[in-house]
Amino acid sequence: MLRTISGFDRIGEENAFAVLARATALASQGKDIINLGIGQPDFRTPEHIVEAAIKALRDGHHGYTPATGLLAAREAVARRTLTTTGVEVSPDNVIIVPGGKVTMFAAIMIFGEPGAEILYPDPGFPIYRSMIEFTGATPVPVPIREENSFAFSAEETLALITPKTRLLILNSPANPTGGVTPKSEIEKLVKGLEAHPHVAIMSDEIYDVMTYDGEEHCSLLTFPSIRDRLIVLNGWSKTWAMTGWRMGWSIWPDSLYDKVRKLAVNCWSCVNAPSQYAGIAAIDGPQDDVEKMCRAFDSRRRIVVDGLNSLPGISCATPKGAFYAFPNIKDTGWPAKQLAAALLDEAGVALIGGPDFGILGEGYIRLSYANSEENIVRAIERIERFLVK
Ligand code: PLP
Repeated sequence: MLRTISGFDRIGEENAFAVLARATALASQGKDIINLGIGQPDFRTPEHIVEAAIKALRDGHHGYTPATGLLAAREAVARRTLTTTGVEVSPDNVIIVPGGKVTMFAAIMIFGEPGAEILYPDPGFPIYRSMIEFTGATPVPVPIREENSFAFSAEETLALITPKTRLLILNSPANPTGGVTPKSEIEKLVKGLEAHPHVAIMSDEIYDVMTYDGEEHCSLLTFPSIRDRLIVLNGWSKTWAMTGWRMGWSIWPDSLYDKVRKLAVNCWSCVNAPSQYAGIAAIDGPQDDVEKMCRAFDSRRRIVVDGLNSLPGISCATPKGAFYAFPNIKDTGWPAKQLAAALLDEAGVALIGGPDFGILGEGYIRLSYANSEENIVRAIERIERFLVK
């Protein structure tokens, strides 16, 4: 009998991948499936970025790079951070990692162990809780409420901190809710955190460019009082439509940088070289495609929200960021995961049940509107036919 560590009894998954596999299987049987399940832009990676990767390979950049990433890539991230946040970071605090997920993996591995408590958003990206459980640390959900426009509450978050708290995970703009936490609330949180210097913060800012209705993303980097314990997660996947390239970056304080560097050396060695050159081109090149994509998401957002609000038993708050709608389905009488499964099997619409993002996700479903307007309209019609039946 093989004996493996107990973490594997607790580690979770990301159900969006299971839904994607089921949707793909149904489609291969000839079923017409509209996929509003997986969270990835439906746009192609802009051409100049693809060309930069091809050129890098042709130029012979196919070997290892430094474990923390090419200096040029880290410098590009520092330039981009200055542009988007106004904050100067040193390339020596930046690491290039294979996807946004790797930063949460590293941060949670660094702080999680039995006896430690880690605060994370619920509903939130499922891997936070999964990885916390894996390490044996105690996951402490921070409630993200519809009544609060799916922003986190500084007061509620601070009240959950104990002497055992090691790490607080924040995410705005948020998956799965599309919530954006206003600057005033973040200021309140940071003020409160100043009284808890034993708590590190990981701010997942992977949707930073995707905000709407004049809402502005507020980076935790703009608060000097917590910089010495702040990890910022970001990456190329969503902003430049590069989910399959596996390219992320994070910004670490001096005291933790060597730990993540060692994890890199022990696990992934470095991110593949041509992708790093593509990443530099993405940051330094024209941003028209990014702007075009965000405009498209904005207009789809209106269609999805209006459409959902016209359906019986469904009400949908207007998301202010990312590319997700998180409608309340409580009045349909359906448990969320059952509704999601029935909509896939019977109506051909793939979406995700709220409970896949945490206990507080019951009563909600997540739709990714990273799909064409035409498909979104067809999906809403199908959901309506299904609910009326
Ligand atoms: N953080 C959040 C909030 C996400 O929604 C995602 C992906 O859906 C990630 C991180 C991971 O991104 P990546 O695909 O670059 O690993």
